[in-house]
Amino acid sequence: MLPSRVSVVVAGGGPAGYMAAIAAAEAGATDILILEATPEPLHKVLISGGGRCNVTHACWDPRALVGHYPRGGQALRGPFSRFATGDTVAWFGARGLELVEEADGRLFPRSNRSSSVVDTLRRSARQAGVRSMEGQALQAVTALASGGFRLSLRGGGELLSDRLVLATGSHPSGLRIAASLGHGRVAPVPSLFTLALAPHPLAALAGVAVDPVLLELEPPSPAAQPPSGRRQERHRQQGPLLITHWGFSGPATLRLTAFAARDLRAWGYRATLRVDWTAGLSANDLEARLAAARVEQARRQLGSVRPWPALSRRLWVHLLEASGVEPSLRWADLGRAQQRTLVQALRESRYAIGGRGPFGEEFVTAGGIPLGEVNLATMESRLQAGLFLVGELLDVDGVTGGFNFQHCWSSGWLAGQALAAASPTAA
Ligand SMILES: Cc1cc2nc3c(=O)[nH]c(=O)nc-3n(C[C@H](O)[C@H](O)[C@H](O)COP(=O)(O)OP(=O)(O)OC[C@H]3O[C@@H](n4cnc5c(N)ncnc54)[C@H](O)[C@@H]3O)c2cc1C
Repeated sequence: MLPSRVSVVVAGGGPAGYMAAIAAAEAGATDILILEATPEPLHKVLISGGGRCNVTHACWDPRALVGHYPRGGQALRGPFSRFATGDTVAWFGARGLELVEEADGRLFPRSNRSSSVVDTLRRSARQAGVRSMEGQALQAVTALASGGFRLSLRGGGELLSDRLVLATGSHPSGLRIAASLGHGRVAPVPSLFTLALAPHPLAALAGVAVDPVLLELEPPSPAAQPPSGRRQERHRQQGPLLITHWGFSGPATLRLTAFAARDLRAWGYRATLRVDWTAGLSANDLEARLAAARVEQARRQLGSVRPWPALSRRLWVHLLEASGVEPSLRWADLGRAQQRTLVQALRESRYAIGGRGPFGEEFVTAGGIPLGEVNLATMESRLQAGLFLVGELLDVDGVTGGFNFQHCWSSGWLAGQALAAASPTAA
């Protein structure tokens, strides 16, 4: 039965909403109700990280942590200085869920099952006295002159609440409701996707990984430069690259598309990708390396000796062929002009990006409610007293690796503390 009045309504039973509700209740707030539109709260947690849930990332210093958020960035210094990765690990640990770090810094539950994260959140909510109702979608909100809100639900139900937490993720209803209460929005665009190559022989190398490479995106044409005065940002990333049958994937590509999400959208997802397969070796050093191979490997064929250890043999042979150099040529017979062509291919291969490829394991949107409209110490709206905004609804998104959930835990926890402090029943 839908109650007629509740102290705190949390709209959205995702990770940010659950964290806000649990943190508020554990800090002393009472009478908290989570309204979830679908029959299955925490659905994204369940499907996240390939069913393992990448809960957070082993980046312990808030100053470094903010560098992983293309939208949010430095503004998140304050929130992360109060609740960051170490707090997340301790928070879940105190509730019986141990997080384990993998070699690349991602943290997963020891069980390797996202259902343990869902179970922990649902159990903690229950134990803290938080109520939840599924299949109840918030449709419209009226701010009352006397304070508090009248909430209308899809299907006709209504209830009053003293405070409201919007935790609706990227669902358009949350942005629409926030707009009705005076909030603006930064238009959503996709982030964290792979890059599709215009048809190219590199596709035959699907499955080849190179670590590290240096990637740089260039606009498709000078006409695509940003309008009036804004300097074109340089989009460069270093890290592991995976060649796929459609183009490029792997952490460096996902990071690149996250930071360049808005420019790529403006360019119609067409661009030139410059790949430095040596990840930053100077032309002189590379020349010296090839010159040494000409002497040391003189009698061997070019295709059988890779001048750069990170390259697989298949990729090296591809680069030789793309440069018009026969892989069966002996190193001793490599001419100076050919050597220069190879240096160019190793440091500056250029590929025409023809569109967006599929998403990686994570799927997030850039955009949402502008951070300037929110008090980031409490997550309360600066425009509407009693309204709190958390999670992906905000114009914050992180790169792949657990950063998106970390923002949910941090923003949810901060809202929870503020809700409890404002609660008449809190000690
Ligand atoms: C396939 C996939 C894998 C991912 N893997 C990872 C990962 O491993 N690590 C990581 O950090 N991030 C990952 N992400 C991103 C992460 O899931 C999101 O950043 C995060 O779920 C956002 O949390 P949220 O609580 O803000 O919103 P959501 O998780 O989207 O939750 C919002 C909830 O609100 C409900 N809702 C919406 N509108 C209403 C309404 N009007 N009334 C009531 N309820 C409403 C929705 O049904 C939903 O349950 C992944 C995303 C996807 C899609």
